[in-house]
This record gives sequence, structure tokens and C-alpha cells, in this order.
Amino acid sequence: MFTLNKFLSAGSASKNLLLGSSRKTRIVSASALLLALCAFGAAGVAPMAPDADDLPVRAISQELELPQLAEQIAALEDQQQKFITEERVRSGDTLGTLLQRLGVDDEAAAAFIRTDPVARSMMQLKAGKRVQAEVTSDGDLERLTTLVTQGRDEPVSNLVIKRDENGFKAVQTAGDLEKRIEMRSGVIRSSLFAATDQAQIPDNVATQIVDMFSTNIDFGSDLRRGDRFNVVYETYWQNGEYISSGRVLAGEFLNGSAVYQSVWFEESSKSGGYYSFDGKSLKKAFLKSPLEFSRISSGFSMRKHPISGQWKAHKGVDFAAATGTPIRASGDGVIDFVGTQRGYGNVVTIKHWNNYSTLYAHMSRYASNLRKGSKVSQGQVIGYVGSTGWATGPHLHYEFRVNNEARDPMSINVPNAQPLNTAQMKEFRKVASNMQHRFSLLTPEGTNVRVASR
Ligand SMILES: [Zn+2]
Repeated sequence: MFTLNKFLSAGSASKNLLLGSSRKTRIVSASALLLALCAFGAAGVAPMAPDADDLPVRAISQELELPQLAEQIAALEDQQQKFITEERVRSGDTLGTLLQRLGVDDEAAAAFIRTDPVARSMMQLKAGKRVQAEVTSDGDLERLTTLVTQGRDEPVSNLVIKRDENGFKAVQTAGDLEKRIEMRSGVIRSSLFAATDQAQIPDNVATQIVDMFSTNIDFGSDLRRGDRFNVVYETYWQNGEYISSGRVLAGEFLNGSAVYQSVWFEESSKSGGYYSFDGKSLKKAFLKSPLEFSRISSGFSMRKHPISGQWKAHKGVDFAAATGTPIRASGDGVIDFVGTQRGYGNVVTIKHWNNYSTLYAHMSRYASNLRKGSKVSQGQVIGYVGSTGWATGPHLHYEFRVNNEARDPMSINVPNAQPLNTAQMKEFRKVASNMQHRFSLLTPEGTNVRVASR
């Protein structure tokens, strides 16, 4: 982004870009300067405005009042002269180089930032973070502001370092986050994560997409080139700066000729969950594959592994995977057995509701703290792929039983009790139809889809 520094250096006659206290005044001053220079595009005039690259594209039409230049200049000359500069932290920056670019030439300020326990968090800023300074014409620091975050999804705070009569003071205050809703679409060409990267979808959101469709799609073997998805999710911003992504609110996945849709629904009284658009809780279904699918564990290469996902004469399904791949409980339940059984090697069985049970064999090891009677929830890691027992190579042998009889899990349609009452259903339909409408806007015309119910 253009910084005011650059505007300033462009014309020495206009060197006095003076600042009032309000943001509006700053913007107007900058406009006046722009008019005077007549040379710059409309990029980044307001301090702390986001980079154009960071924002969804959106047409904005706004009438701007033209400032009275003569009045402005007269007003500016009456005030004490201060500059506002803004810079992004670059990799390899030291406090010294950053302050220099900000136009700060103030040893006392630098010493304060290095030693004050609050101000010191400035030193941890990552490349790309924006820092804004208010500087006198002598290079003395009046005020410095930036956003600091501890971790990726940590709350953000404002750090303000300012000069007062006794020297400098640093204050950290809670950030004032603005929630936005974003919509993105992707097409599978090589892998899911390649598609989410291409669509600039954060990893945290990609993982949630996998989770929300794991009862419908085995991401390890069901994806096809040309599959499409739409996703609606929350993002958090402050002062136009992207801070983090939040929850996925809805998703749609076109897998082959089937389309799966899912929407987040919560009521004030109970915790939320994902539902298909007809109001069925997806949590009640079983995961289509107990193997964890992640950027790391996925070796997806547009082909189905020869033994992956096949119902065998031996009453189970074998999933080929590298030793150590995490194995997840395919539904909520209670651990019924953890131990070794001849052919199965290291094996875990889980009891679910309605006399459903599942079995996971040939594990290299179990998840820690797993014992008979432990409660597990869907998706929880219970062990890791191995080749213990009678196994020719590392794979997961998976069985699904109804009343102790082995069934092909791919053919089972788990009865799904209606989880929402009439009043909830009415509320849910509002949310769902809103999301459905968003998706219809994202889906290219002429795409023929069939909604699969599962
Ligand atoms: Zn097997």
C-alpha cells in the first residue's frame, strides 16, 4: 500500500501533511494532498485501510465532498505539525529499521519499546503486520499503534504507545473485532487442499469442510476431478485488517453426481451442530471413513487405492493407509474393548446407540488414555494404522455391526431420528433457505445436481 511517507517525499512543497485528531480530518487532509499532487491513483489513502489484495472485490460508489483547499491549508498551518506514517513489518526488520521507515528518529522511544513489558510485544510482530506512527517534524514519536495477537486464533488486542508529560506509556486494550461473512467456491483439480489454497480458503476452514462432510464423503477416495464446493464462513477483522477465520456456517459439496449440503444451526438453549438442509443432524450418521484426512495424511492423487473401501468376504472394509495414520471413532459411543485378538492384532471396538457397534483392527498403537468404558465422540482419534495381527501390509480393517451382525457400512442407512421440534424446524428453515439461496448464486448455471440424502 502507498504510505503517506511516499506521498510526502513526492512533493516537498506539500511536506506538511498535518493531522487533526479525527480520522475524518486525516482522510480529508490526505485528499487535499492528493488533489494538490494530481498524480496518484486511489490506492490506500486512509491510514489503516486494508490492502486491496486482502479484500473481496466489491464496487463502491461514493460521493466525496471536495475540500476547500485554501481553508484547509490555513487551518493546517495553525496547528502543531505532526505526521502520520504507516508501514508493514518486513521479514528481517529490527525495531530500528521499522522505526526508521516510520520516520521516527527518537532514541528514548526506541529504548522504551525495548524495555517496557507491555510495549515489548511490538518486538514480536510478524512480517505483514501494520504499524502506524504519529511523528513530529523532528522525528519524535508521539504515538504508535498496532494490533498484537498471541496465536492464530487468539483474541487480538490494540497496542498503543504514546507520549505524555512523564515520558512514554504503553497500553494494551481488547480488540474490537468485526465479524464478516465470506463465501468462496472451489473446484477439485488435483486435491482438496490444492483447491482450497487456490480459492484462498484458510486451512482452519478447509478442515471444517472435511469434518462437516465426513459422514457423506470419504475424502481419501471419493473425490473426483471436477467436484465443486461452496462454503460460507465467518472471518474476524479489525480496522479493515484480517485477523482470523471462524466457523463454517454452511457448505455444499458436489461429489460426482451427488450434492451434499450442510448448515450450522444453533439455538440459544443448546450447543449447535451441522444439519442437512432437510433438518437432519449429521452427527447421527457414521463417518464414511474412520481414517483422518488432513493436509498431512492425505496422499490423494486422483485414484482409488485397490483395497480401499471394499466390502470383503471377511465381513469388513479394508482401508489402505500409511502406518501411523490417525484412526477416528466413526460415531459417538463407549469403548467396549481395547487389546489384542489373534488375527485382528491390536483392536478397538466401540458400542454406539441402537445396537450399532464398530471395530478397528491391525493398529500400530492406541490413543493414550483409551480404556474400556471411556466415552468417545465422533471423529476422536482412537489409534493409529499399523499391520499387527494377520495383515500383509499396513491398513485399517473396519467392521460395522448391527445387533452383532457384520454389515457393509457403505450400504447402511442409519435411521435418523428427527432432532428438531416444530418450532426449531421453523427457525432452521429460515437459516437453511438463506444459505441455499447463497449457494444457488455461487453455482454456475446449467450445473445439474441431485441432492443425495444420507
Ligand atoms: Zn480386513
